[in-house]
Amino acid sequence: MAHIETWYRCPVCNRPYSSLREATRCKNLHPAKMERWAVGGDGKAVRIFDNCAPDGIGGINWALREADLSDDVKERKRQLKEIGRKEV
Ligand SMILES: [Zn+2]
Repeated sequence: MAHIETWYRCPVCNRPYSSLREATRCKNLHPAKMERWAVGGDGKAVRIFDNCAPDGIGGINWALREADLSDDVKERKRQLKEIGRKEV
């Protein structure tokens, strides 16, 4: 005769376990995902992608520069002009 079982699934990898304890243990064994972000003086955060070239979009140098640039188009334009003057 059929019977009822309760299964507990790990919320991360979806593997089923027969006890909450085992499922919780599995969940805790998954490593945290690491992300790197460049954070500018005003708190603007830009994600760094490790598979991108340092100076390209998503790269570390690009992200550091982008984090210090304003999201306001006019202000950004002014900041870029200023950076250009310093680099020359
Ligand atoms: Zn798991």
